[in-house]
Amino acid sequence: MVTSVNTVAVVGAGTMGQGIVQVFAAAGFKTKLFDIDEKLIHDGMATIQKNLVAAVEKGILSPDQRLQIEKNIILCGALSEVKADLIIEAVIEKLDVKQGLLREIESINASAYAEGRPLAPAGKQKAILVTNTSSLSVTRIAAALNKPERCVGLHFFNPAHRMKLVEVIAGTSTDPELVDQMMELSKKIGKIPVRVKDSPGFIVNRVARHFYVESLKVLEEESCDVPGIDKLLRSAGFRMGPFELMDLIGVDTNFSVTESLYQAFYPDPKFMPSKLQQQLIDAGHLGRKTGKGFYDYAKN
Ligand code: NAD
Repeated sequence: MVTSVNTVAVVGAGTMGQGIVQVFAAAGFKTKLFDIDEKLIHDGMATIQKNLVAAVEKGILSPDQRLQIEKNIILCGALSEVKADLIIEAVIEKLDVKQGLLREIESINASAYAEGRPLAPAGKQKAILVTNTSSLSVTRIAAALNKPERCVGLHFFNPAHRMKLVEVIAGTSTDPELVDQMMELSKKIGKIPVRVKDSPGFIVNRVARHFYVESLKVLEEESCDVPGIDKLLRSAGFRMGPFELMDLIGVDTNFSVTESLYQAFYPDPKFMPSKLQQQLIDAGHLGRKTGKGFYDYAKN
């Protein structure tokens, strides 16, 4: 059943949630933002404002457009306010967290329809639940829901407000019409959607895993240092070196994705997570979002 999308909500105001909110708000959707950590909602909004100011300075947006985009963003103080036609989870890469959260969101939105909210005639329309997982099975995430057919994967790339690609993933139970609709919606928000199978890491993250895993092995073998490996790979044509990129992604998120692929392939040693990354996580050095990862951003 096709739900017309007028309102959007994003849960998780971290690296990805911020960018995804900006994308939908810039495309004209009233877009809600919620995070379990209230401070991060305001930090997320501050980052979006910074991005928008930069876009005005570069002449990409007019000052009026910037104000309108900001007006389209509604900050939520509680999960119970997360009621919308399309709800995207962008929380940590843990299956049980995503399942539990989407179950709660499903229930909140089921009662929203029962209350006869103006989104659609009660019982006629149902919220679309989207996961932005990088590597987990959409089928497995959706299996926790009463209506797994209403759940689909939209894998945005980082930074979400700039990267064009979106992998569109149907779980085993996903309504095929919903997948078609997500392809159209992705185009409407200025993205380039590609349908991919629900397999571990989908396409990009599975292939890109070797970029990170092999670079970490080179570092562990002390064949070269962090800036050296980054410089070499940039010189070879990559836009960013692996360590700069891991710091941008989030060392913890990158590690979780590697771990998820390692486990999903029974496990496969070629996706073995690195102890060096684990040490950084243990120390709280998660990359740009904490000010320190493979590089120290306080020094810049
Ligand atoms: P992040 O750590 O930057 O942010 C995650 C946010 O989720 C945090 O702000 C945290 O407070 C919040 N959160 C955790 N549990 C919550 C809950 N129960 N309810 C509400 N908020 C909760 O992570 P991220 O890098 O933005 O990644 C989010 C998702 O996007 C992950 O599934 C990740 O795999 C995926 N992803 C990440 C990237 C990337 O480059 N970082 C790219 C594509 C997809």
